[in-house]
Amino acid sequence: MGKRIRYTKEIPYYGHFDVVVLGGGPSGVCAAIEAALLKKNVLLVESTGMLGGMATSGLVGPFMTCYDRDGNIPVVGGLFRKIVDKLSEYNAVYKPEELDSPSIYTSFIERYHRHVTAFDSFTLQLVLDKMTQNAGADVMLYTRFADCICENGKIQEVILSALEGLVAVDAEIYLDCTGNADVAAAAGVYTYKGDEQSGVPQPATLMFEVSDVQDEGFMSRSARPDGPVKAYKTPVEGKYKVNHYRVFDVDATNSESMTNAHIKAREQVLDAYKVLCNQTQGFENAKIAQVAPVLGVRESRHIAGKYKITVDDIVNGTKFSDRIATYGYGMDVHPRNEKESGNFKIEVAERYYIPYRSLIPEGCDNLIVAGKTISCESQAAGGLRCMPCAMAMGQAAGVAAALAVTNGCTPENINIDKLQTILREKGAILD
Ligand SMILES: Cc1cc2nc3c(=O)[nH]c(=O)nc-3n(C[C@H](O)[C@H](O)[C@H](O)COP(=O)(O)OP(=O)(O)OC[C@H]3O[C@@H](n4cnc5c(N)ncnc54)[C@H](O)[C@@H]3O)c2cc1C
Repeated sequence: MGKRIRYTKEIPYYGHFDVVVLGGGPSGVCAAIEAALLKKNVLLVESTGMLGGMATSGLVGPFMTCYDRDGNIPVVGGLFRKIVDKLSEYNAVYKPEELDSPSIYTSFIERYHRHVTAFDSFTLQLVLDKMTQNAGADVMLYTRFADCICENGKIQEVILSALEGLVAVDAEIYLDCTGNADVAAAAGVYTYKGDEQSGVPQPATLMFEVSDVQDEGFMSRSARPDGPVKAYKTPVEGKYKVNHYRVFDVDATNSESMTNAHIKAREQVLDAYKVLCNQTQGFENAKIAQVAPVLGVRESRHIAGKYKITVDDIVNGTKFSDRIATYGYGMDVHPRNEKESGNFKIEVAERYYIPYRSLIPEGCDNLIVAGKTISCESQAAGGLRCMPCAMAMGQAAGVAAALAVTNGCTPENINIDKLQTILREKGAILD
């Protein structure tokens, strides 16, 4: 190890909250909204200038299916559905029941892609601003979780890197929705990156949007070039999201790795754009409308939790008694290097379940983790990492945090029947 510096400084204290949510992506926003709706004093901290995570700063879309494996029955409701309904007020969404696969909304992918939700990322930013405000949550954008002070297995304070400098806040319960398990790792929870054996995560992709596409041209499927040119129509006329090349072996918790990956991905965007314009009917006059400001990271850390979801659980549909969400999308595990091929190698159950224990980390008593970093085998995360499921987990984490505050207990010790009852009352689907 190289030279190390000891840094000691008094910093401003910004106050006490019932619940502090770190990370404002699909899981974090839903967690914050839900805890605030349950009358808790909530702070939501987000490192970029917008809420929505990969759905906005990553320009990822569509929301993957919210139906079971075969696309017959909805399996995600609750806040996800409310967000879709809000988007609809702005004509910024095609609802899942309106879309089927294969189509220009699924880039002609058929398997597991029935009833995706096509949405406009900018409108989603506005909708999430309004929903967090209306719920009464305080939001700090441009503010990054930097560290935490722990004692006796609990987080005492979190240190935030605000634009004005380092500041501290404290809370009864903390929610790690950073997509990197930053809080859990800083609190000393055991974490592993990507595949636990190799340490290699799923690849990253820099998403972008193109405008001026002629839908009729793209609809002629025979004109689509071979290979992974994946373009998904959005509700904005002529605008498509493009999910093209991949950057392998990116460590999203390391600045050097992310810097190199993002630079490489920028070049890939230009290549992808050329392929689209030159080889894909309908895209001849397409223009780059915007490139995501943030690199799309599919997989980073996973936490060691009270239960680790296995591939077998996803294949067999293990029905956990403490389930807080259900999902049906396939195990979408992208190649981890240039030589590997293919996604969806293993068939999933008609629907599978997320147990509450997989959100509860080992070794930190006042922390809940939600979203793509929960405790699960890397392959098992291939489906549940998608945004509708991340939102369902976030909603559950928000309710769980509120219950823990009300009852003065740890998240591990809340009443699971009560948690499930509240979730069902709020439209969540658990069966
Ligand atoms: C290229 C790509 C394509 C995908 N395609 C689809 C798709 O078509 N459909 C689908 O449903 N899903 C898709 N996914 C998966 C999905 O986008 C993510 O798994 C999902 O967004 C995870 O939600 P999350 O809340 O766990 O994390 P994220 O969306 O990553 O949100 C984490 C948030 O925390 C913030 N943050 C990070 N660190 C800190 C910190 N230290 N302090 C404060 N804030 C912090 C981030 O800025 C971000 O806003 C795709 C993902 C990628 C990368």
